[in-house]
Order: sequence, then C-alpha cells, then structure tokens
Amino acid sequence: MSVRPYRQITRRKSRQIFVGPVPVGGDAPVTVQSMTNTITADVAGTVAQVKRLEEAGADIVRVSCPDEEATAGLRAIVRQVGVPIVADIHFHYKRAIEAAEAGAACLRINPGNIGSQERVREVVKAAKDYGCSMRIGVNAGSLDKHLLEKYGEPNPEAMVESALEHAKVLEDNDFREFKISVKASDVYLAVAAYEALAEACDYPLHLGITEAGGTRVGTVKSSIGMGWLLKKGIGDTIRVSLSADPVEEIKVGFDILKSLDLRHRGVRIVSCPSCARQGFDVIKTVEILEERLAHIGTPVSLSILGCVVNGPGEARETDIGITGGGTLANEGSANKVYISGVADHNIGNAEMIDHVVALVEKKAAEIEAAKTADSAEKPAAE
Ligand code: SF4
Repeated sequence: MSVRPYRQITRRKSRQIFVGPVPVGGDAPVTVQSMTNTITADVAGTVAQVKRLEEAGADIVRVSCPDEEATAGLRAIVRQVGVPIVADIHFHYKRAIEAAEAGAACLRINPGNIGSQERVREVVKAAKDYGCSMRIGVNAGSLDKHLLEKYGEPNPEAMVESALEHAKVLEDNDFREFKISVKASDVYLAVAAYEALAEACDYPLHLGITEAGGTRVGTVKSSIGMGWLLKKGIGDTIRVSLSADPVEEIKVGFDILKSLDLRHRGVRIVSCPSCARQGFDVIKTVEILEERLAHIGTPVSLSILGCVVNGPGEARETDIGITGGGTLANEGSANKVYISGVADHNIGNAEMIDHVVALVEKKAAEIEAAKTADSAEKPAAE
C-alpha cells in the first residue's frame, strides 16, 4: 500500500503487443506518439521531422501512406530513423501489404473496411510475415453506416461495437497483435467510449481526443480527456492531436504523463504564478529555462519560486531549487539555491539563469552516470 494512496493509479490489465521493439500494454510504460505532416514520399523531409520528434522523446511515430509513392518512401524512412514507424493506411489494402514489406512496425487500418475476406487474409499474412502489429482506429466522425442507422448518432455504444466488429475480423484470422482507439473530438463521448471498451476487451488502448483544436484548446481538451482516463488506469499509448507542430504533441503528451507521475522525462519545473512578491522575474526566467533545458531528457525536478512564502517548501521536494530573496531590482546575491532539497548557496538575479542551467545539466549527468553504473553492476549481482 502506498504511503500516499490518493496518488495511486492502478492500471487496467491489458495484453501486451509490440510496435517494433516498443511494448504497448501490459506493464509497459504509457508511450507517447505523434504523426508527421510531411508528404511521406518526401523521404528527406519526413526523416527530418521524425528525427525532431525522436529528439522530443517520441516513442512511436505514424506516417501517412495514401499511395504507392508513400509506401516506397517508407522503406527508406524506416532505415534512417530510430523510432518504430506506424503506417497509416487509408483505404487500400495493397498499401498495407507494401507498408509491412517496407518495414512498418505497425499498420493503422480498420480491417472491416478492407473488403473481401481474401484481402483481409493477405493483409494479416503480411503483418505476420513481417512482424507488424496493427491499430484499429475508430473515429466518431467516420462511423460505419449500419451503426449510425442502428444508433442514430455516434455514441459510445456505436463506437465500441465498431471497434469490436473490426477486432473480430482480425481474431477470425487468428491475429491478436493489435491495439484499439475510439477517438472523438467531444471529450465526454471519447471518454465514455474508452471506458466501455476498456470493460469489453483486454486489448491495449491508444488514447486520443481527435481534432482537439489549436495548441491551447487542444492541450486543455486532451489533458481533461486523457487525464480522466489515465487516472482511472485506462490507456497504454497516447497521441495528443493538435493543429500545431507535431513536436508540440509530444511535449504535451509527456506533460500529461508527468502531471500524473506516469512517466518522467526531461526537466519538470515547478514555478510561481504571476505574483507581486517575487524577487526576480519568474515568468521570464521560466520561459528562458524551458527553452534552454529542452535538450535534457533525464528526469530532473526544478523549482523556481519568487520568494520565501513557498520557495523553501517546494525546494525541499525538488532536485534543484531557487527561492527569491531580494527584489526585482536586486542585482546582488539574494536568491537561495537548494541542492537536493537543502539550502546550499546564494546567487544574484543576473547570473541565475546560466547558473541554473549548469546545475541542472550537472544533475542530469550524475543521474545518467548512476544509471549506467547500476546497469553495469546488475549482471554480476544476478
Ligand atoms: S512563492 Fe512568493 S512569489 Fe511565488 S507565488 Fe508564492 S508568494 Fe508569490
């Protein structure tokens, strides 16, 4: 039993599948993914974008495969990137087979839409032959006609029924290496559909609030929808959908997981809201630090607090802490620096940012070195 049961998340027991080397479901960490918006046939452009997503921490990246040029490009792309690639297949089963042959780690395809039994068999055979998993992606905006007629509108029951119909097509072909999404742009609808699907099967679930909007609104909607589900233990991989640079989707995805303590990546900053008591410009400092610390993937916690009201308390809980001690105009050495929760030395406003960057980089290097030493020791201990 945890000492803080209110922070406990008991994850739904899902079966585990693999997207390339990345496990999804079971006890695997919740993975974060995004999708490129380059033309897939443009190999150089797509590789460059996948690499930016990798640097931001993406575990899995999806690319669109609408035509033969795209699946031909895919072959070159998968060889040049480090993350597993999911091929997004729109309608044509042949693109799925080509994508599997080209090295896709997973096919996003709805088997019920492929057409004849024979075509489904061919796609499943290609997936088995080339070690591809699949994602069934049900979307409230494109539900099958017979379900819309049966239910009158896209509702949770219709979405779950659609997902299970597609799943049955794969199960009938003895294929169970797939995850499912039931996305909607409406938070209530998406959440209710995922909750019902989580009860109805044990397949891993790919969460998403689709067409969520621009960066601010989309982040809020995704955080509410996914946060709600993740807190209940539902969700094995997530994609935040934003009308924005896909790198933003990865950043927001990790921030959602970090907020729930489900994943830790990069620097987690605790900082003041706007407040007149601050001894230095907290907003600007945090803005600059977020930018300058973006390259750090190691989990490090940092508190940037403007005064002693909450500064020492937050600093005690973080790896590196700053508590403002003077005034906005103070150029002296009035701010207190905390290392591992303990007051250590002072720093002035002018030198603070460079100093914090250096401290965080040092801490990250120490954590990485300890990890390396730990894994080097393990085989000997076993
Ligand atoms: S720690 Fe001080 S500066 Fe920051 S919000 Fe609280 S009172 Fe304001």
